[in-house]
Amino acid sequence: MESKGHIKVENLSVFYGKDQALKDISVKIPNKKITVIIGPSGCGKTTLLKSFNRLLDPSDNIKVTGQVLVDGEDIYGPNVEVTRIRKKMGLLSQKPYPLPMSIYDNIAYGPRLHGERNKHKLDRIVEHFLKTASLWEEVKAKLHSPASHLSVGQQQRLCLARGLAVGPEIILGDEPTSALDPKSSQHIEKRFLELKQQYTIIIVTHILRQAKRLADYVLFLYMGRLIEHGPADDIFEDPQEEITKEYIRGIIS
Ligand code: ADP
Ligand code: MG
Repeated sequence: MESKGHIKVENLSVFYGKDQALKDISVKIPNKKITVIIGPSGCGKTTLLKSFNRLLDPSDNIKVTGQVLVDGEDIYGPNVEVTRIRKKMGLLSQKPYPLPMSIYDNIAYGPRLHGERNKHKLDRIVEHFLKTASLWEEVKAKLHSPASHLSVGQQQRLCLARGLAVGPEIILGDEPTSALDPKSSQHIEKRFLELKQQYTIIIVTHILRQAKRLADYVLFLYMGRLIEHGPADDIFEDPQEEITKEYIRGIIS
């Protein structure tokens, strides 16, 4: 059976009103690796990430042209079931947004929504994904207390566990450590490095050192254009474009 979690972008352009945020982007995201999207603020990183799970929903103000193919399906095509597309992807945003309920219920929420009612099975799911997110030891004695009582770093790991519990193939992270202290950031980075065995991971970061620690593959965006992309070593050690060189050297930020 062919593995799942393929993303391929073809001639993608995105417009907010008259402003073009992404300009004719074509790229294939490698499977089961960590792809990092880098580039200065406002260059379109978040827009590109959102385009992958249709969080960018075409409307009066948002226009999308070109294609985003997820497992071969054009997710901006007609008759696409958006919830099915989103189920393939777990999303971590800049700040964690736990649901206003207990730690346990945050994780059980998705599986319950998909019909799981067996308490024993839910217990096992909750334990499994809290372990995967490396949060279990810290919360096992207080599973039924509100998620909002956790530290921000713990909440981000909870959100990771919640996302994974729905069974995605792809993990998207938009500067997922930007609200976290260094130790919590390290925690999350370590999880990503483990999870790439099983998931295709795409992370936006403006922290170059983090990009170097995580990336197998790099996309460098500048003013809405994909200037350069390739294996991390190539982009960091031997960038081809002048503008990439300047960004990597920290001349522009
Ligand atoms: P980055 O994540 O690299 O900082 P974004 O993708 O957030 O960049 O933004 C790219 C450009 O699109 C910016 O000029 C930003 O102001 C604009 N933009 C982003 N989101 C919206 C929106 N919802 N409506 C209008 N303009 C937007
Ligand atoms: Mg952004």
